[in-house]
Amino acid sequence: MTDPLTAPYLPATPLEDAVRVVAIETVIPSDIMPGLLLLRIHTNTGAIGHGETYYAPHAVAALVHEWMARRLLGQDALAIESHWRFLYERCANFGARGAELRAISAIDLALWDLLGQTCGQPIYRLLGGPVRSRVPVYNSLGNPAYGRNPEGRQGWPGYGTIGEPGPLQDSYKLFHAPEELVEELLSEGYTAFKTWLFDSVAHQHGGMRISLSDLEATLQPLVRIREQFGNRIEFMVDGHGFFMLPAALRIADALRPLQPLWLEDILKMDNLSTLRDFRQQSRMPISASEMLLSRADYAQVLAEQAVDYVMIDPTWVGGISETVRLAHLAQAYNVPVTMHDCTGPLTLFAGLHVNAAVPGCCFQETVRAHIRTFYHELIDAPVVIRNGEAELPRGPGLGARLNPELFREGRYDYRVSRLDA
Ligand SMILES: [Mg+2]
Repeated sequence: MTDPLTAPYLPATPLEDAVRVVAIETVIPSDIMPGLLLLRIHTNTGAIGHGETYYAPHAVAALVHEWMARRLLGQDALAIESHWRFLYERCANFGARGAELRAISAIDLALWDLLGQTCGQPIYRLLGGPVRSRVPVYNSLGNPAYGRNPEGRQGWPGYGTIGEPGPLQDSYKLFHAPEELVEELLSEGYTAFKTWLFDSVAHQHGGMRISLSDLEATLQPLVRIREQFGNRIEFMVDGHGFFMLPAALRIADALRPLQPLWLEDILKMDNLSTLRDFRQQSRMPISASEMLLSRADYAQVLAEQAVDYVMIDPTWVGGISETVRLAHLAQAYNVPVTMHDCTGPLTLFAGLHVNAAVPGCCFQETVRAHIRTFYHELIDAPVVIRNGEAELPRGPGLGARLNPELFREGRYDYRVSRLDA
């Protein structure tokens, strides 16, 4: 008889040499990085796969333990495509964007990590890489705290506050000492940065309009940077999806003389026809978008010629499996791909593996304020960036393991699902 938990896409009898899933653990280390969910998959061989996603972590944990564990426990851990497709189909019938795809993403990373460990190879090799020996990166001007408000409580991520003075307070520094900031980035070898400097203005009018005086004042740091550094530095401007079409067009007009490398999510990503209209009217290079999440949306923006760069977050869109598929799809349209970060250390490692394996990837986002202040509490491997390029991850699998001290009963909303439970 067909078992509805395993069929379709798995052999009726698991292969004799299968590495099997015996337990799945999750933790939510909210005092280190609010919004982050870390996941480990244990197997009968003792190998442990590591995964991660970001946003609404308690909802993701519920999906993993109360729902997806039923499919995975006892099954072949290396049958990645099988589990991806099964879980996706069971979610998609009820609307898969959001927590469901995030849960699949975290699981997918852990399964790829296990496959790499089993084969003794880094994931980029299993994907057919390397296609490059180093990955070009840019520095996003985040602050050390992300998604936390100034009192240390959880705030709204992606709802940028300027921050405060201090080391690696890059967002604050852009507004108060832009020349000093860029001097520092250039001296460290970075050749590009990304900023979301319109966030505070967006909140004043709900993104419906922006006055000429606000526009002029907000752009001042970028004007000063162009004046002082000329073409020595590139920058990208992220609108975090806060603006409606007329304000977005006004921002694009004002930015045109400054020649940003791309405009990212100036518009809300909830109408792809408006995005195409914005690209045509603004005549500016458009990046879209880690906010799309679904394969159908990415296919649509490519087919409608609404983008110049495709941005993907590997731990939102469906893991390494789906990121690779989308990166190859973008290449079919001659549109370069760039990987989102800001959302956790394994997201960065996953992005580096895809960058190392797919020729059409052009950039990896990084946040030096995160890498240097708290990633060491979460993972055991350094992120090495020199001359604006990241080294490829080393070792089998992802090349970074989550700190085992985080996975303890009674801490960080620890949950575990076991085969024998
Ligand atoms: Mg963005």
